[in-house]
Amino acid sequence: MNKSDSERVRTVLDKMGFRWTDHENEAQLVGILACSVRQKAIDKVYSRISHWNRIKNKRSLITFVSGCILPADKIKFLKLFDLVFTMDELPELPDIIRQYGIVTPYSVNPESDLAPTGDEAKNQKIAEFPNLLELLQSEDSLKIDVTHKIQNNETSMDERSIMDGFWHIQPNYSSPFEAFVPIQNGCDKFCTFCAVPYTRGREVSRPHEEILQEISSLINHGCKSITLLGQNVNSYGLDKKNEGISFPELLRMIGELGNISQKKIWVYFTSPHPRDMTNEVIDVIAEYECLAKQIHLPLQSGDDEVLARMNRKHSLQKYREIVEYIRFKIPGATLFTDIIVGFTGETKQQFEQSRLCFPEFQYNMAYIAIYSPRPGAVSSRWKDDIPHQVKKERLHILTKDLEKSSQTHTKKMIGRTYQVLVTGLDRKKLYLSGYTEGKINVRFQPIDTSLIGKFVSLKIVSATEFSVQGELVEVADLKIK
Ligand code: SF4
Repeated sequence: MNKSDSERVRTVLDKMGFRWTDHENEAQLVGILACSVRQKAIDKVYSRISHWNRIKNKRSLITFVSGCILPADKIKFLKLFDLVFTMDELPELPDIIRQYGIVTPYSVNPESDLAPTGDEAKNQKIAEFPNLLELLQSEDSLKIDVTHKIQNNETSMDERSIMDGFWHIQPNYSSPFEAFVPIQNGCDKFCTFCAVPYTRGREVSRPHEEILQEISSLINHGCKSITLLGQNVNSYGLDKKNEGISFPELLRMIGELGNISQKKIWVYFTSPHPRDMTNEVIDVIAEYECLAKQIHLPLQSGDDEVLARMNRKHSLQKYREIVEYIRFKIPGATLFTDIIVGFTGETKQQFEQSRLCFPEFQYNMAYIAIYSPRPGAVSSRWKDDIPHQVKKERLHILTKDLEKSSQTHTKKMIGRTYQVLVTGLDRKKLYLSGYTEGKINVRFQPIDTSLIGKFVSLKIVSATEFSVQGELVEVADLKIK
């Protein structure tokens, strides 16, 4: 989500006349898209801004902060940064900067092509939503920044999403073959360890017409891997109260787009919530080739009592039934999860319940986090009573469990051929890297950079815990002689 947000921020800054630099010491404007999930990330924001504020004594520099920010942090940031704005205020950034009187390339040349904002945006009329085939054939489908759902001001302000302006900004994608597409913002779940509902607000679903338009444009432009983004993707549409479409319906439409395009593409989504994971979602993934057979299903804890204190609103049995259905309908799917160790009050026995989930669910990957209270989240008011050393030991034990379950899978890949999307140079010298449809990392030779962004077929020859190594068999439809 952070990366996707940054692609839209970059569009607005580009249109204001700013040009990107990879060298911070050359920059006239620097900023941070903050993440409030962990205190450590917010601590880094304070350290960066104190560095930048020291630089300001020597040269002019504009600083901004946006992203996921808790109200308490926002008040402090207002004293430290020149600009503090929320993501839904991004379309207003040029106006905000002009009003603050900061000299920008735009302020000396106000005729430049700015993204529509405020009243200008409201007066844009939406074109009738074309059918999926027309959408794919449309040369203009990238111009989503001028397509608004507001018709002749007939829709009242209350009915419009405050996120409209943000979503209408055409992102400056950081990769030509991988893209993130936000489908929803905010969260209504209020897990007790999480501050997202307080930083990003309540759930708002992006209109499906815009999502399909963005995806069809990406397919037309040769994108190979698309990730649908949201804090709680599979509750997509619930905020519209039967007026919009549901998450499986959205997936089905994307599946149809993939079929019509006849192009190879992998569509992922993250993160779903087990509570909203219906059989219908899994059925649709099984049905459409372009919907990637990789499912990220956060567990957080394998103990019902801990799950209840986390306010996850599902039991381990409910989670188990979802995994069983995934294994039944999509036997080859890879399974990823998120898990927290050392949550307030987590006993040794409750931790052991989480451990048992690894051999049972055979995860390919798990993002294991040591619990730390986040200001703003409900659990921050509870005693953080598990010693840090114990949390570290639990992290170490679960990592070992994960290695076992993951390696069971990677070893089985040896000798088989997989399609791989080549993403770039590997950390190991003279190798390229990429990933399979199931998001298993692969490295291979030869180091031919023209393959980056293409699908290749690789025969797997060796495996480690989380990755495999392959030999090139075929490049897309070009046979290797
Ligand atoms: S589902 Fe829970 S963990 Fe995920 S964003 Fe919402 S509150 Fe946070």
